Amino acid sequence: MTDAATSNKADVIVLGAGIVGVSAAYAARQRGLSVILVDRREPGSETSYGNAGILSSGSISPLNNPSLWKALPKYLTNRHPALRWDPVWAIRNIDWVVRFLANATPSRTRPRATALHGLIGASLKLHREWIVKADAAQRIRETGWLKAWRGDAVAAAKAEQALLAEYGIASQLLDRQAISALEPNILPVYQVGLLHTQTASVDSPGAVVKAYARMFAGSGGEVSQSDIKAIAPEGDGWRVVLADGVMSARHIVVALGPWSADLLRPLGYRVPLAFERGYHREFRPNPVRSLQRPIHDADGSFLMTPMEQGIRVTSGVELTARDAPSSLVQIDAVAEVARGVLQFGETVGEPWRGSRPTLPDSLPMIGPAPRHSGLWLAFGNQHIGFTTGPATGAAIAAMIAGAEPSFDVAAFSPSRYL
Ligand SMILES: Cc1cc2nc3c(=O)[nH]c(=O)nc-3n(C[C@H](O)[C@H](O)[C@H](O)COP(=O)(O)OP(=O)(O)OC[C@H]3O[C@@H](n4cnc5c(N)ncnc54)[C@H](O)[C@@H]3O)c2cc1C
Repeated sequence: MTDAATSNKADVIVLGAGIVGVSAAYAARQRGLSVILVDRREPGSETSYGNAGILSSGSISPLNNPSLWKALPKYLTNRHPALRWDPVWAIRNIDWVVRFLANATPSRTRPRATALHGLIGASLKLHREWIVKADAAQRIRETGWLKAWRGDAVAAAKAEQALLAEYGIASQLLDRQAISALEPNILPVYQVGLLHTQTASVDSPGAVVKAYARMFAGSGGEVSQSDIKAIAPEGDGWRVVLADGVMSARHIVVALGPWSADLLRPLGYRVPLAFERGYHREFRPNPVRSLQRPIHDADGSFLMTPMEQGIRVTSGVELTARDAPSSLVQIDAVAEVARGVLQFGETVGEPWRGSRPTLPDSLPMIGPAPRHSGLWLAFGNQHIGFTTGPATGAAIAAMIAGAEPSFDVAAFSPSRYL
């Protein structure tokens, strides 16, 4: 790390060292550009730290798909583990809510699934390459991801399998016995399972981002720790005002995850970014009751996955202001249910909260800001940002260098909202 005050000029300054920013920085460096990566914390310390670490090949269907309408009545009760929402927030952000729901139609879902499939495919390729280069290959598990239902959900599982198959994504339908054979240490609570066989996972997403940041530094990039206060055009480039100095560059990349909209507002961009907050709790693993892969309990609306520190249980969505006080109701409720699936020990560490940054169409912004040259936007990766960070960053680096990204970025253009 360097002291920000001593740094000044580069081809590119990347703002934010989550998975998206670190990836953009590394990819830009690979293209021979001089790059400074700035974050107020160490790389991979926020949203990219506390997620479930799933590198999901199959998360092509955005949350606002047609099945949302069927689930809506139970969500409106505000008691469902999948979704808690703050009515005051919803009224204040009714525009976002309406636009989010309006996208949940068949004709608006299919093109988004196709766009996400391209982004995910490109990203998984990079993750698998970079994790080896970054000397972190021991962290990745190619054991798939099990989605499991407690009731007779064969029809739902088959429908999901059919959609995945249309995109060439492999999965296996499992019955109770097959689930027990796959995960012998869980109690036999699930009747139906769908194993996403091409999905991988990591045992510490934060450590993976840190390893990628070290790889960036090793390639000649500069990592700088400082609070970013403002950005402003300067000559044919940009000035970045930090708590302890100023930097400038021809290009800047806004990869600030859930904080991205804040710095853009003074430039006249009103980004419709909402925060699908989520929590995790970790538990001491029982050494004779281990888990081989992440499990998504479809009826319980939680995920549990083996991590370096223990069994990590993550919650569904809490729709509210980004910085509203935490409520542990949702995570504590699902953690109890998870304990009925896998015997694990006491809590390890403190509960964690993060915000999935989400635009109304559940697609990230990847591309140039419409009214400012040299300003690049890379955020809004919702539930799958750990998966999609590398290709998001690599596409930005390609565009800065005047090259074609490796997947079709048209659907991710910032100009659709700005
Ligand atoms: C509970 C939960 C589970 C999830 N599980 C998965 C999963 O299994 N798989 C998956 O693919 N995705 C998952 N996600 C989503 C994923 O974690 C996010 O989409 C992704 O981490 C977003 O990355 P990012 O780089 O955009 O943001 P971040 O990781 O939040 O990075 C933004 C960075 O900007 C910095 N920053 C902000 N403001 C400033 C400032 N003013 N000055 C300096 N620095 C600043 C922050 O410190 C931070 O490091 C999950 C999310 C949650 C909440």
